[in-house]
Amino acid sequence: MAYSQNWNLENIFAGGISSPTLKKKLLLITDQTADFSQKITNYNLSNDQPNYQNFIDLTTLAQKIEAGLLQASVFVNALISDDFSNTTLSAKAAKINVLKATYAQPLGKFKQLLAKIEPNSWAIILKLPTIKPIAFALTEMRQQAVELLDDNTENLLKQLELDGLSAWSSHYDTIAASLTMPFTDANNQTTTISAGQALNHLEGYPDAAVREKLLTNYENMWAQAEGLVADTLNHLAGFRLTEYASHNIKDFLQKPLALNRMSKATLDAMWQTVSANKSILVPYFERKAQLIGKKKLGFQDIYAPIKVPGYQAPTITYDYAAKFIITNFEQFSPKMASLARKAFENRWIEAENRPGKQPGGYMESVPELGESRIFLTFTGSPNDASTIAHELGHAFHSSVLTDLPFWRGNYAMNVAETASTFAELVVNDAKVQEAKNVAEKLTLLDAKLNNPVAMLMNIHARYLFEISFYKARQDHLVSPDELNNLMLNAQKTAFADSLDKYHPHFWASKLHFYIDDIPFYNFPYTFGYLFSLGIYALAKKTGDFEEQYIALLRDTANMSTEELAKKHLGVDLTKPDFWQAAIDIIAQDINEFLTLSEQFI
Ligand SMILES: [Zn+2]
Repeated sequence: MAYSQNWNLENIFAGGISSPTLKKKLLLITDQTADFSQKITNYNLSNDQPNYQNFIDLTTLAQKIEAGLLQASVFVNALISDDFSNTTLSAKAAKINVLKATYAQPLGKFKQLLAKIEPNSWAIILKLPTIKPIAFALTEMRQQAVELLDDNTENLLKQLELDGLSAWSSHYDTIAASLTMPFTDANNQTTTISAGQALNHLEGYPDAAVREKLLTNYENMWAQAEGLVADTLNHLAGFRLTEYASHNIKDFLQKPLALNRMSKATLDAMWQTVSANKSILVPYFERKAQLIGKKKLGFQDIYAPIKVPGYQAPTITYDYAAKFIITNFEQFSPKMASLARKAFENRWIEAENRPGKQPGGYMESVPELGESRIFLTFTGSPNDASTIAHELGHAFHSSVLTDLPFWRGNYAMNVAETASTFAELVVNDAKVQEAKNVAEKLTLLDAKLNNPVAMLMNIHARYLFEISFYKARQDHLVSPDELNNLMLNAQKTAFADSLDKYHPHFWASKLHFYIDDIPFYNFPYTFGYLFSLGIYALAKKTGDFEEQYIALLRDTANMSTEELAKKHLGVDLTKPDFWQAAIDIIAQDINEFLTLSEQFI
C-alpha cells in the first residue's frame, strides 16, 4: 500500500486555525485556570484530612490544564510548521503563550503550598493511591519551592527576565539574522548568503576547497560582530549568575544538573571516560582526510561527506523507508514495530517535500488522544529513513506513557533522546548490514560516525568552553579575544589536537550558547547518546529485552537518572564501566571503517 505523506490534524481540532473546538478548548482552559487559582487560595490542609480529596482534585485539575495547553499548542505549532511563512498563525500561538503564563502563577502558588506541608502529612499524602504515581514530580516541585524567595521578589525576577535573560537571547537572534557573507561555490560563482545558509554549506558542501574558504569567511563574518555578540553572551551569563546568587546557588552547574536529574559524579565519570577514549577517533579523522584528498581535516570537514570512487547514493521512496523501519524495529521489539505501523497508517507523520514548510524535524505528543505527530521533510535520501526512525523512537517513548498521569511523562532532556537514538541505531545498523557493496557500506558507516564525532568531540568542546567561560565570567566581563582563546583551547582539547583548522568564533556562531530557558545546552546530548548505546548493547545481548526496555522508558520521569540506570540496567553511572562499554561499540564501527576504506586510498 502507499502511505499518505500528509498528517491528519482534523481529529485533534477540526477546521484548521479558526476551529470552533479549539476556540472552545481555550475558553475551557481559561476557566479551569481561574478555578485552579481559586481552589489554591481556599485550600486548607487541616480541613482536608484524612483523605486529602481536595489536594487530589488540585493535582488532577493542574494536569488537565497542562495536557490541554499541550494539546492546543501542538495543534497550532503543527499548522505553523505546515505553512511557515504565514504570519497570521502566530497570533493564536501568542494567545496560548498568554494562557501558559497565566497558569504559571497559580502553579507557583501550588508549589509553595507543597513546601508548607509538614513532613508527617507529606509522607501520608505521597502514599495515597492516586498520588503515588506522581510522588516524584510532586517532591521535585516541593524542593523547587524551598529555593524560592518571597512572592514579590520572585515575580519581580520573572518580570526582569523578560528584558534581561530572554531579551539577550532574542538580541542574539537579531544580530545573527543581520549577518551576511560572500560565498564562492565550486563553479566559481559568488553570491551573498546568510549565517544560516553558511552553516548548512559548512556541514554538507561536497567540495573541500570551497568548504575551507567558507570557514575563513564565516570566521571573518562573526569577527566583525564579535563585540556585539560578546556583550550579549556576557550579559546573558551575568544575569543567570546574579539570579543564582539571589537564590543562594554558588555552583553554576547546580541548575543544569538538577534540570537533568543527574549528579556531578555521573557527569564527571562520563566526560573522563570520553577524554580517555579520544584517541579512537584520531585514526578515523586521518583516514577521512585521505579520502577527501587532504593531509589533515579542518573543523569544516568533520561532517563532510566522503567521496568513494564510482559510488552514487541511492534515492529511496517513502513506502520503502516505512517498510524498512517497520521490519527492522520488529527484530528488537514487536511493540515498537506496531507503533510505527500505526503512525504510518493513521497519518501521524507529515513528510511531504514541498515549499513553505518549516525546516528540521520533531515529534510532539497529543496527550488527550494518546497519539503523536511527527514533522519532517522526506527528500528520498537514505538519511531521511534515519530521521523518521529517530522521531518514531520519540513517539514510542510517548506511547508507553499514555496510560500514566500527565506528570509522569515530564522526562528531562538527557533521557529524552534515549528512545529516539535507540530507534535510529536500529535502522542505521540495518542499513550498514544490508549495503550492496563496500563503497555503499563505507559511505553509510561514515554518516553513522557523524554522531560520535558530534557527541564525543564537538559537544565536549562546547561543555569545556562553557565551564571555562562561566568561571571567567564570575570574575570579570570576558573580552572577545579571551572568548576566542577559551574556545580555541576547548576545541583543541576536545578534538585531541587532530585538526589543522579550528573555529575560534564558535562561541559566537553557535545558537545553543544563547538559549535562555536551558543553561548548558550541551552535555545532555552526549549523555543521551551514550546512554542509548549502552541500552542497545544490552538489547543485543538479552533475549526478553522488550519488557525491560518499556519498563525503563516508563520510569524516565519517575526517579533520578542514576536510580533509573541502577533499577533497569543494573549499572552505576558514576563509574566508568557503563560509559566505556558504550564507547567500545563506537570503536567497532571505526575499526570496520578503517578496514573497508583501505582499498580506496
Ligand atoms: Zn530527538
